[in-house]
Amino acid sequence: MTGDRPPTIIRRSDEMRQRVRAAQAAGERVGFVPTMGSLHAGHTSLVERAASDCPAVAVSIFVNPIQFGPQEDFDRYPRDLAADCKRLAPHSVRWIYAPDVSEMYPPDHATRVEVAGPAEPFEGQLRPGHFAGVATVVCRLFHCVPADAAYFGAKDWQQTLVVKRMVADLGLPIDVVVCPTVRETDGLALSSRNAYLTAPQRQQATALSTALKQAQSDWQQGHAISDIEHRMAAILEAAAIAVDYATVVAADTLEPLAPSDQTTAAIALIAGRLGETRLIDNLSLPPRTQSPC
Ligand code: AMP
Repeated sequence: MTGDRPPTIIRRSDEMRQRVRAAQAAGERVGFVPTMGSLHAGHTSLVERAASDCPAVAVSIFVNPIQFGPQEDFDRYPRDLAADCKRLAPHSVRWIYAPDVSEMYPPDHATRVEVAGPAEPFEGQLRPGHFAGVATVVCRLFHCVPADAAYFGAKDWQQTLVVKRMVADLGLPIDVVVCPTVRETDGLALSSRNAYLTAPQRQQATALSTALKQAQSDWQQGHAISDIEHRMAAILEAAAIAVDYATVVAADTLEPLAPSDQTTAAIALIAGRLGETRLIDNLSLPPRTQSPC
């Protein structure tokens, strides 16, 4: 879909809110795609989906300081608003909301949105405070951009569960739509952090999707979950990727699956480090056609 005119860049939350409310008052459904910029085809796939559902689309670009740990990559996270605007130009985006940190968080801000349940394991354990930072900014963004629907990538599966939990628990009036992961032709999931990879690391990184595809095939052949997990870890380790986790769990709760469970939707989740760069990925596992051995 081609944009008729370039998006308007908005810096202030009151102006953003007014524009969304005015569109809704005129009968338009508003779609919202929250991002941290450094946009790639994964992000624009969300924009395309939003534009197919909604005549008015807002994209936010905000590198959220409070979701990064002290040793993480907040300072070096890629930022290029002009390049992001260019990437969005061919798409149907009406507004780009690009607030400053001071617009999002008053200097004396002291509130966090803490989600338990799906925010606790995996990323929650390895990145303390990360999901509180995510839930807080998403909640804040949903007030600045009071859209009818918000679009998130399955690439960050645990994040989608945290956002859905928060929306349900706080009764926020917005639909959460989860869109498929966009991958390079060799399987690597698109990520702003792929830009950190050296050429050899970029090669090694294909092991993430290889491990997930192996898990999917092992799953369908009825292998035990512990064997599937070991095999994923072995594939990552063989590519010199330091494994944070490589696991198969219930897709909706991230809880362990009983060995004989054949009906609960499952997902393989992995996280690994290549030097300073940490990558995550996942793959849904269809219902098993063979009983676990
Ligand atoms: P980020 O800018 O990394 O915070 O991501 C903004 C949104 O884009 C999140 O909902 C991500 O899950 C989504 N996203 C990131 N990478 C991909 C991808 N490869 N495919 C689909 N969605 C993605």
